[in-house]
Amino acid sequence: MSWQDLIGHDLQQEMFRRASSRGRLGHAYLLTGTAGIGKRTFARLLAQALLCRNSTSEDIHICDECPSCRQVLSGTHPDLLTAGLPEGKSELPIEVFVGSPEKRGREGLCHDLALSPMQGGYRIAIIDDADRMNVASSNALLKTLEEPGARSILILIASDPDQVINTIRSRCQQVHFGRLAPDFLATALKKVTEEQGGELPDEARLQRAVDLADGSVARGLDVLERLRSGDLLDGEGFGRILSRPGFLAADLAAAGDAIFSKAGTDTASQREAGLVIVQSCLEHFHRQIGDPGQTPNHSVTADRYLDALDCCFEAARQIDRKASVPLSLDTFYHDLEMLLRPTWKTAADKS
Ligand SMILES: [Zn+2]
Repeated sequence: MSWQDLIGHDLQQEMFRRASSRGRLGHAYLLTGTAGIGKRTFARLLAQALLCRNSTSEDIHICDECPSCRQVLSGTHPDLLTAGLPEGKSELPIEVFVGSPEKRGREGLCHDLALSPMQGGYRIAIIDDADRMNVASSNALLKTLEEPGARSILILIASDPDQVINTIRSRCQQVHFGRLAPDFLATALKKVTEEQGGELPDEARLQRAVDLADGSVARGLDVLERLRSGDLLDGEGFGRILSRPGFLAADLAAAGDAIFSKAGTDTASQREAGLVIVQSCLEHFHRQIGDPGQTPNHSVTADRYLDALDCCFEAARQIDRKASVPLSLDTFYHDLEMLLRPTWKTAADKS
């Protein structure tokens, strides 16, 4: 991995380069931005660059060959600590930070981070899913943030910074990562697919994944996988239902369930599936606004399509904010039915 492997996010890279060359690296950073756009990759690259033996503070780069780089790549560098949501858990428990009740304060990430760097450079902790810390874990981490070690750097990652308590947020320098632009996203999707040894998608599928992924590599890969396995209704599938005069929320729910049921009980997969469904509808409404002549549902006015777009954005926001996905989808289907059914339209417009 080198900085060249990072697609997009040049500004953020430049920001850290400058801070390092001026000797102004902070003790704690909070990397924010929608899920699946490369925050974790960025945090890893930054840690590797700061630990690389051929890197200097004036020019942080990654050689990929020194013992330090090799240890980071193999996950064995003693000065790089990582934490994230434990398998099957929905919260980052306090034990991760200060150890089990029997060994409280004598183990855990806060304890380990306070030790002197073993290789003389920095001691770095990457905390993924920082928006899933509960009050107890947040308070445990707060102490470390208030009294950081001289050579320690904390890198927190959160898709939803609003879920990180204020006292933590205010002690971190927040670095926001934007959604990837379509051409960057297409490049990233091809690159990752290649790295994973997958078959490169044809242009039409790639374009569809880019359209549905909302700037997120993780979401784009998910769409590609669904297109490959035939899980994803083609855009026309949802389009056909939504264009039918008098469609019912139940029709949408049935189409959505075909996708959603494959996600199983894992909430992250459920969220991805939910977003794919919402994005498919969003794509349809975009098409209708762009070319209203296509739709057989002439009774729906352009205003209604704009409202429907809002409906999609709101549903995506709810799902992104970790609301219950089945509930968000039910509300979404119902709201669309209310908006687009000619009978409801007439009743609403008369009032
Ligand atoms: Zn190196």
